[in-house]
Amino acid sequence: MQKQLNCRISESIWNALQKERDRTGDSMSHTLENIISSALGLDHHSIFQVSTSGALVQGVFQGCTRVSDLKSHGDFGLGTFDNLDGEMVMLDGHCYQAGVNGITREANDEWTTPFATVTRFQADQTKQIPIVGNIGELEQQLDSARPSENIFIGVRLEGFFEKIDLRAACKANSGEDLVAATAHQSEFSFENIEGTLVGFWSPEYAKTLNVPGYHLHFISRDLSKGGHLLNVRARDLSAMLHFETDLHIAIPETEAFLHADLNTDPTDALNIAEKASSENRK
Ligand SMILES: [Zn+2]
Repeated sequence: MQKQLNCRISESIWNALQKERDRTGDSMSHTLENIISSALGLDHHSIFQVSTSGALVQGVFQGCTRVSDLKSHGDFGLGTFDNLDGEMVMLDGHCYQAGVNGITREANDEWTTPFATVTRFQADQTKQIPIVGNIGELEQQLDSARPSENIFIGVRLEGFFEKIDLRAACKANSGEDLVAATAHQSEFSFENIEGTLVGFWSPEYAKTLNVPGYHLHFISRDLSKGGHLLNVRARDLSAMLHFETDLHIAIPETEAFLHADLNTDPTDALNIAEKASSENRK
C-alpha cells in the first residue's frame, strides 16, 4: 500500500534532493524513499536471510532465529520452521505456516526458523501476465521482466489460479537431509482460487546461499491455504518485482551448522527437494 506525502522543506534540502536524484537517475519519489528508509534503518533494497541453502540440503533444520526477529527485518518472504515443520509465507507483515494439506495458521512470534528469506517488499517493476499454462511459462514471463542475471529479486504475484500444485514439508526425522525429509512431504492442489505467490529469484552464482532461480510460496486470499509451489495454471496475474542489491545472512551458531560440510554443490539436491513432486522423483 503506497501513501502520499505532502510536506514543506527548505530550498537547500530541495536543491540537495535534486542533486541526489540527478546523481542516481532515479525518480524523486524513489530518491526520497531511499533516503528516508536508510535514515530510519529500513534497508529498502535489503534481503535478510537466515542460514544457507547448502546447510538446508545437509539437514541443518534446527530453528535459530525467531519469527519476531524476522519481522524486524522484513514484511515479506518465505522459509520453513524448526525441524522443517511446514512452509513459511510472510505477507504484509504477517507470518503464516502452511502444514499438511495446505492448512495455514498464523505463526507464533516465538517460533523459530532454520532457513528463511525476508525483505521489505516494494515493487520496482510491475507486469501483467494474462495467462500461464504451467510453471515454465510463468518463469518465462517473469524472466522477461528481470533486469539482470546477477541481482536478487523479490517476486509477488497476485491473481486467479485455475490450478495450483503445492507441497508442505512435514517434520524431518532425525538424521534426514533435505532430499530424504521432503520425500515424505504433503502434496495437494487447489482449483479456482485467488491468492498471492510470494518469493524470490536468486542468481545461479548464489546457489550455495539460496535456492537458485524462482522459489515461490502460495497463500490464498482468505489466508486459509498455502504451500511451496510445484506447478501452476493461472490467469490475470499482476507481477511485482523488487530489485534486491544488499544481502544480509544470519549464520546460525548452532553445533549442526558450525560442523556441517558446506563445500558440496547443492544443485542436484535443491532441484529434487525444491522443484519435484514425489511423482517426478520416481
Ligand atoms: Zn519453499
